[in-house]
Amino acid sequence: MIIILFGPPGAGKGTQADNLVKKFGLVQLSTGDMLRAAIEKGTKLGIEAKAVMDNGELVSDHIIIGMIKERLKEKSEGNGFIFDGFPRNIEQAKALDILLENLNRKIDSVIEISVNDEILIDRIKNRAKEMKDARSDDNADVLQKRLKVYHKNTEKIIPHYKKKGKLVTVDGMKSIDEVRHEIEENLKLNI
Ligand code: AMP
Repeated sequence: MIIILFGPPGAGKGTQADNLVKKFGLVQLSTGDMLRAAIEKGTKLGIEAKAVMDNGELVSDHIIIGMIKERLKEKSEGNGFIFDGFPRNIEQAKALDILLENLNRKIDSVIEISVNDEILIDRIKNRAKEMKDARSDDNADVLQKRLKVYHKNTEKIIPHYKKKGKLVTVDGMKSIDEVRHEIEENLKLNI
């Protein structure tokens, strides 16, 4: 099973990804987590990425696609993958299509968690307060910048997956449990 989970910052992707990992035994591939691990290790890639992340922008496709390519070569995949935070633009979506085609694999479902901007901005401000100092890209200004980047780049992947008949949109303004239920029901129908 290969699932892509996407949505704007603050939509609850991480929470829903955790549930899918437990429920379906999937391996979560989060490019954000991979980048944070590289920062933690102090690698050259990590140092370069940190400046971009702290600014709320997208790390270069070359780096991101390279990381995913390496990870897909590894054997551990449980019952499949859940991509969280990837792809984030059309170039990445096309690169993923090619990577999966070469592995003879295909995407089963692309889940968009949809939340309108006003609610997100409230969530973003609360999260920035709660996360104070926890993540340097989690202050309100950077999160708002990330929301803009989401509209400018990431949303463009919607038509790509709609055309393939893979897109499922769930209402991310409902409670965490309702969103979880909606995602699970859709996955049962789609897979
Ligand atoms: P996330 O943890 O998914 O919210 O990602 C945190 C930050 O890492 C983003 O704001 C980007 O700067 C960077 N990042 C994560 N995934 C990607 C990606 N697929 N493409 C480009 N940049 C990414």
